[in-house]
Amino acid sequence: MAKVILKNICKSYSNGFNAVKNVNIDIQDKEFVVLVGPSGCGKSTTLRMIAGLEEISDGELYIGENLVNDVDPKDRDIAMVFQNYALYPHLTVYENMAFALKLRKLPKDEIDKKVRDAAKILDLDQLLDRKPKALSGGQRQRVALGRAIVRNPKVFLMDEPLSNLDAKLRTSMRTEITKLHKSLGTTFIYVTHDQVEAMTMADRIVVMKDGIVQQIDTPQEIYDKPNNMFVAGFIGAPQMNFINVILTEVNGEIHAKADGFDIALNKGESSSLIEKGYIGKEVVLGIRPEDIHMEDIFVENSLDSTFEATVELGELMGAEIYAYLKTGNQSITARFDGRYRVKMGDKLKLAMDKHKIHIFDKETQEAIN
Ligand code: ATP
Repeated sequence: MAKVILKNICKSYSNGFNAVKNVNIDIQDKEFVVLVGPSGCGKSTTLRMIAGLEEISDGELYIGENLVNDVDPKDRDIAMVFQNYALYPHLTVYENMAFALKLRKLPKDEIDKKVRDAAKILDLDQLLDRKPKALSGGQRQRVALGRAIVRNPKVFLMDEPLSNLDAKLRTSMRTEITKLHKSLGTTFIYVTHDQVEAMTMADRIVVMKDGIVQQIDTPQEIYDKPNNMFVAGFIGAPQMNFINVILTEVNGEIHAKADGFDIALNKGESSSLIEKGYIGKEVVLGIRPEDIHMEDIFVENSLDSTFEATVELGELMGAEIYAYLKTGNQSITARFDGRYRVKMGDKLKLAMDKHKIHIFDKETQEAIN
């Protein structure tokens, strides 16, 4: 079993900077967990503490059943893959992959089997005699993964392993790593600042900001039910629209009003807002660009969530078009099917999918639900 449990984990660097603050994460055996957040949020520090490369200032770290705070990295039964691959340039692919096993003094034929098995999984069989400089970026990254696989660790740790690859290769390596996780049946902990990697690879995502965990959930939950405006804005592109609105009661219904805007909210949403005393107050309405539709194609449950907007810019992305809109003094982004060739100056009648509206407290920025 390779559960990894972080209990109240903290990191203060010697200069007094608190990089990781009271982090609690329960990672299940065989789970693929992705730590994501902007630069400096403490995700690499957290991973390096799990690896044993950084001392834990406070809290408890368990791998399997064992408390490992004071266990050497080499005795933690983990393997780490770094962003810069860290291959030995003077050794061949075979020798790079065999290196750690030789140090462990494994018999030659056992080493050979492990290296060839891993090479097969990673499609490196034809490249075993090459030196790293004769490999592409993607191939080098596969060798780095191979070096980790041969050690048969309980836990794989990966720190931005794809960030040196071009966009196309990154996409294909993403799929490779997901497949690798399935075939190895090992716990994976993966750090990235790229929300697409997090959304596509993770069983669960841990979103971090300023050393603090903001939310731990499945990609779907993180996307559909963000805990706060930070998570809502960080996950999803183009990012969620945030509009300051005043909540008022009109004939028993709760409306969200702003300049250019008057949207009747759902009953469920409304009763929770009434209960929590938000009527008459300013809150933030969040709506993702894909949840804004042309009124004529989206009528269900949206007749009272319509508004008019003027196109300031249409950005054709191929299958989709991003429309940068103005309604009253609000700037809003919508994402339409690419067949709608909207262009600057167009006046559009739009509707919000009311089921997809998020309401946040203006002060705390927490979701109100
Ligand atoms: P990135 O994506 O840029 O690598 P990150 O989320 O992985 O960012 P960390 O590398 O964990 O962030 O760093 C978290 C914070 O701790 C940063 O503000 C960083 O400047 C600080 N930090 C990292 N290492 C040290 C150190 N040795 N001494 C002091 N502060 C450090």
